[in-house]
Formats: sequence, C-alpha cells, structure tokens
Amino acid sequence: MTDKTFYIETFGCQMNAHDSEKVVGTLVHSGYSQVETPEAAALVLYNTCSIRDKAEQKVFHRLDQFKRATGKGKVFAVIGCVAQQEGERIFERAPHVSLVAGSASYTKLPEMLVQLEAGNRRVIGLNLETAETFDTPFTRRDNPHRAYITIIEGCDKSCAYCVVPFTRGPERSRTSESVLREAAELAASRYTEIQLLGQNVNSYRDPSPAAWDFATLLDRVGRVPGIRRVRFTTSHPRDFGKSIVDAIDENPALCNHVHLPVQSGSIRVLDRMQRLYTLGDYMRRIEWMKKARRNISITTDIIVGFPGETEADFQDTLRLLDEVEYDSLFSFKYSPRPNTAAIAMDDKIPEEEKTRRITIVQEKQRAIQIRRNSDLIGKIEEVLVEGRNQALGQWIGRTSQNRTLNFTHRDAAAEPLTGKYLPVQVTRAGPNSLVGESMQCGVM
Ligand code: SAM
Ligand code: SF4
Repeated sequence: MTDKTFYIETFGCQMNAHDSEKVVGTLVHSGYSQVETPEAAALVLYNTCSIRDKAEQKVFHRLDQFKRATGKGKVFAVIGCVAQQEGERIFERAPHVSLVAGSASYTKLPEMLVQLEAGNRRVIGLNLETAETFDTPFTRRDNPHRAYITIIEGCDKSCAYCVVPFTRGPERSRTSESVLREAAELAASRYTEIQLLGQNVNSYRDPSPAAWDFATLLDRVGRVPGIRRVRFTTSHPRDFGKSIVDAIDENPALCNHVHLPVQSGSIRVLDRMQRLYTLGDYMRRIEWMKKARRNISITTDIIVGFPGETEADFQDTLRLLDEVEYDSLFSFKYSPRPNTAAIAMDDKIPEEEKTRRITIVQEKQRAIQIRRNSDLIGKIEEVLVEGRNQALGQWIGRTSQNRTLNFTHRDAAAEPLTGKYLPVQVTRAGPNSLVGESMQCGVM
C-alpha cells in the first residue's frame, strides 16, 4: 500500500476501546497515519463486539455502509470479537474485507500489515492459543488525563450466556513489573487517573516470581507518584476478595467505586447461569463494601429473560435491587450466543416479556438513583474535570464514585480547568448526574 492512511471505528466495551488505542499506536509506529473519515482512508478497520446478537448484526450492516460510502480501492479489516467468532465466514458475507483478526492475534498485527501491503487479499489472525498479552509501547490514548491499562486478557470462566471465553481466549495476566512501568510512564506524561482493565480483574495472578494478587497490584498502582485515581473493571464476584475492600479503605488514590455484576437475584438462575457463586456469597461481598470506612459506590449488570427465568425469579432480582440500592446498573435482555451453554436451554422467554422485565428494572433503578443522588445535595465532592459543555456554560467533572457532576465555576471560560481536580458542592441531583458549583479557590 503506497497510501498509508487508516480509519478505525470501535464498537463495544472498554477493552475494545483500549485495544483500538493499541492498534492505532501500532499502525502509527509502522508508518501509517490516522484520518477522521473512512472516505479519506486507504485502510478501514472496524473493531467489533459480539456480546449480544444486535451488536453483531450491526457489523455486517456497517461493513456494507462502508463499502457503499467509500467506493473502490480500499482495504477493509474486521478485528475484535465478531472477527474471532465468525472467522473466514466474514469473507463470504462481506467479500470486500481483506483482514480478519481476533484480539488474541493483535501481537501479530505488524506481520499481518506487511502481508496486506504485499497485496495479499485474505489475511487471517484467529489463533487463541497464545500465552502473550498485547502490550505495546506505542499505544495512542484518546483521553489526555485518564488512561486504560490492561492487566489481564481473556476469561477462564464459562458463564452459560457469554461468548467472551470463545472470542478473547484463555486468561493471560501481565507481569506486575510491566503494569507498574506503564503506570509510571503514564504519570510522567501527566496522566493522573488509571483504569485497570480485564474481563475479570480479580483473577489477576502476577506471572513473575513476585506473584502478586489483584489487591496488591491495585494498591501498588495507587502508590505510583503522580497517580491520583485508580479504577478497575470488571470484577467477578467469585474472585472478589475482602482484601480489595481493605485496599480501598487504606489507599485514598483507589476510587471508592466497585462494579460487581450480579446478573440475577435468583439463586436458581445464578446456578443455571454457571456464575459460580450463590446469592449469599454475593451479599457477603456487598456487606464488606457497605461496612467499609469509605463510602463505596456499588454498580452492577443485570440480565433479564435468561432461559427458564420465572416471574418469581424476576421478583428476586427486583428484591435484590431494593436491598443493595445500586448507584447505577447496566441492564440487558438475554441474547442467545453461539457456542454458549445457554443456547441449548429450554424455556426461552418471549421477547415482549423480556422487554416488560427490563422496563420494570430500569424504572425501579431510576427511582433508586434519584433517591441516592439526592442524598448528595449539599455535600462537597472532588471531581476530575473532563471537559466543558459550552451550551450550558458548565464544566463536566467525575467524582471518585464515578458520578458525573456538571458544575459552574466563577471566571467560567477564562481558566482552562480540564484535567484539574476541584472540590465541587452538589446543588441538584438527577437520576444520572449531579449539578454543582465549584468551591472557589480550590484549583489543584
Ligand atoms: N466479565 C464481566 C463479568 O463477569 O461480569 C462481564 C463482561 S460482559 C462484556 C458485560 C456484561 O454483558 C455482562 O456482565 C452481562 O450482563 C452482559 N452479557 C454478556 N453476555 C450476554 C448475553 N448473552 N445476553 C445479554 N447480556 C449479556
Ligand atoms: Fe463472560 Fe462470565 Fe467471563 Fe464475565 S466472567 S467475561 S460474563 S464468561
């Protein structure tokens, strides 16, 4: 390829967003330059998600759009989970695609690019049998203050509904030394917030002789000079130990927010989902957090309409929401996925019933959030300023608990606040965000 321009579009979770940052870094290091539109690019990459069927359907629709909008002579690449899942079938359904690569093969990207440049029409990277993680010193980060660091890739669990073990391969942890080195480099480049990423960060096991567990790694990242906030996602309840809560209590750089997906409040459904914990195990973890010295915000994921979920099971989920009072949640209608155990289960729940249940979950949760957010009115929260909403004349901040807090500041536009930490007093609360006023002289 003589024209080394590329465009990348990303769909899906934070892992995908961060993979794209690494892919961009790798391409730029190989002499490519990123452009803003598919029309302007010689190479068009699409990083895909297959967690639910809808996401997957979008892929082929989008690939078709790319083709129609951009005309002939371009190279198209499909990467990520749909690439891994569909493999060579992508070439059949979208013959204009030349490269198909799953995330476990990204370490081979530079070689694959050379094959593309040599005019190869079909390049495939689908090997899941890798012990490597996709560490790259060339990562191009999208946010100037908050950076992702992958600590573990893949997943060794087999939740009955989930494609991730098939699309991202087995668990591979990075060495603690390489994670800490990346955190120190980020701090040196003026990043102050780090988000540790993995499908199941709690099962992190340092492969080096230090053999740190996740709580130790989390604490050490929070002690890197210059790093003011550390977040992590996602936690699997089975591997979530009390030591993580203790670390949050001890180390103020660790954000007081834990995302702990429960999926269902029914003992029976949890068992059918093969989640490997009982409701009692889960509630014990909630209790650790509620009893912590710091006020830990708890959020979760809920799936409604899993095969065989009865009305009584669904009511158990609603009871759980009342009991825990999550600060926020992501709710999903169960979507049957290829290769998973649940696809063969009987007692499918009709689509309209799933819609009814998800609506009830969302309405209940909205009321809970209004109540919980209102409790913060009058309180002072420290925010990291992430941007500005010109139309509303407000700055956009995020609290340690991961709430969005939009606020006004005297000398509004005069001083660039983005990237700064400020104390802000909460004056109003909605279901999804807070509004406040900065405490005047506290720019940090
Ligand atoms: N590893 C994380 C965990 O164990 O909780 C979650 C990873 S997954 C990318 C994010 C969420 O998608 C899950 O927590 C689950 O609620 C939802 N999800 C996964 N597979 C699903 C499916 N087949 N149908 C509906 N929701 C699904
Ligand atoms: Fe999927 Fe379960 Fe692994 Fe999470 S822990 S990625 S839900 S298989």
